[in-house]
Amino acid sequence: MLYLVGTPIGNLGDISSRAVEVLSEVDCIACEDTRVTGLLLQKLGITGKKLVSYHEHNKVTKGPQLIEMLKSGITIAQVSDAGMPAISDPGEDLVKLCIEENVDFTVIPGPVAAITALVLSGLSTRYYHMEGFLPNSGSDRKKRIDNLKNINETIIIYEAPHRIKKLMSELLSVGFSDSKVALCRELTKKYEEVLRMTVEEASKYFEDNEPRGEYVVCLEPKPEEILEASTDDVEELARHLIDEGLPTKQIASRLSEITGRPKKEMYTLVLNLLK
Ligand code: SAM
Repeated sequence: MLYLVGTPIGNLGDISSRAVEVLSEVDCIACEDTRVTGLLLQKLGITGKKLVSYHEHNKVTKGPQLIEMLKSGITIAQVSDAGMPAISDPGEDLVKLCIEENVDFTVIPGPVAAITALVLSGLSTRYYHMEGFLPNSGSDRKKRIDNLKNINETIIIYEAPHRIKKLMSELLSVGFSDSKVALCRELTKKYEEVLRMTVEEASKYFEDNEPRGEYVVCLEPKPEEILEASTDDVEELARHLIDEGLPTKQIASRLSEITGRPKKEMYTLVLNLLK
């Protein structure tokens, strides 16, 4: 049996009693960095555990070995350095292997930096897009940043402190200047801090303040650009909403929200289409 175990993202108190129980009872712990996990186990008073390294750079060879161990009846907990395995961390491939090889696995849930930040951000939690880490540089990074313009949900980004300034200027360059951003730093730790401002303000802020610690960036999506849409586009959208069977008033409200045009004008447009 494989257990994917969530561990704290900074505050030891966030480890669950179930996580402690599983870490104490398994035969072996697969971890990103044996020193980091060794320290965690020491703090938890768990001794004599066999630790096996499993990380981004050895997962192709180590994954099948872990599966063989699991098949032979050895119980394994997989942990990352912090937070939930498989979330911008190794784990996903092991889950896939378990499914392919019919090996039982389960999750012992724990803190996730992305979700902790999302809740703190004050931005919409109804729909969100987990971007995780952007590529560090080059055309891949440019493409991903450019793609953020098309996302209509709160965007969650993991970013290293030395790239936060660069990220703000990249977001400015693709039109996010007025979007709200929550820069969530050192979550669950002593110096936890959430800065809520616009991207433009954040960019200015970091001219005088050096980013320090671990960050999750939560970003409000760019306003829909349909404002510049032609009347044909608006009519097409209206027809679509009519086909969905929505009442005229509701369609007018939705169109007005999306296009920024007056509700009355949208109501008349819908009535004309219904004639
Ligand atoms: N699997 C982890 C999770 O579920 O939270 C994420 C691991 S990812 C390798 C590490 C990134 O998560 C950091 O670069 C940072 O962006 C974010 N992160 C982790 N802990 C954090 C914390 N305490 N405060 C702010 N961000 C954190």
